[in-house]
Amino acid sequence: MTGTPGRTKLRAVPPNRASRHDQPVLHITDLSSPNVDDRPDGTPIDVLLIHYTGMQSGQEAIDRLRDPAARVSSHYVVNEDGTVVRLVDERKRAWHAGISYWRGQSGLNDRSIGIEIVNPGHEWGYRDFPVLQLAAVCDLCLSILSRHPIPPRNVIAHSDVAPDRKQDPGERFDWEGFAQNGVGLWPRGVPDYGTAGAVRDAASLRPVRGALAEIGYQVAPEGPLDPALSTVLRAFQRHWRPEAVNGQADDGTLARLLGVHRLVR
Ligand SMILES: [Zn+2]
Repeated sequence: MTGTPGRTKLRAVPPNRASRHDQPVLHITDLSSPNVDDRPDGTPIDVLLIHYTGMQSGQEAIDRLRDPAARVSSHYVVNEDGTVVRLVDERKRAWHAGISYWRGQSGLNDRSIGIEIVNPGHEWGYRDFPVLQLAAVCDLCLSILSRHPIPPRNVIAHSDVAPDRKQDPGERFDWEGFAQNGVGLWPRGVPDYGTAGAVRDAASLRPVRGALAEIGYQVAPEGPLDPALSTVLRAFQRHWRPEAVNGQADDGTLARLLGVHRLVR
């Protein structure tokens, strides 16, 4: 088992609990948000986007997501105690992604469901997600996945689709544990090889850029390590190499990149 020391880990559900997502034990309260409109006709719901709220309290975040002046919303908010608030019906378009890109698509609000997880975030004191909260998010994800054609590779972070603007839900989110429970992708059996061996020249980075683009990131096909590529590498690391978020194409990052790339080919 790899992972950041001290990070709250979600335990894998035993395979004999196969019916887990049939009857999720979720406590959902409906509070509507006015920040909503219709999805474009004929667009599938095929992306699940995970956020943190990045505000000092959950109540403050919910108030903002329901404030017409803020013009932001999400489908769900998951509190630190594991209770869930539904702000927007899944059939409607919530306003959570902003300028965004994944796998050739932009404007991901059209086709995604957004979950906001209460956490102060990097700006206000980023802290571990309580295990009760993670378990509720995982159950919520499983129930959403049972309703929509969302492939595992499209269960992603806000930072994956907007790496230059966003860091959420960040490197403390247990993507590995979620994948073990059937939510998203994780390359099994790839230990952290550490931060040595970073490559920076254009020739060495060509396959790195190619793999990042095939996974889904917006990245130029050619060039040495520049700020734009470092930003995308940081997003990749927050999701798939949380042991060190350094924007470098180092040994540990390249091994996980190869592992994720294999899963999407
Ligand atoms: Zn976000």
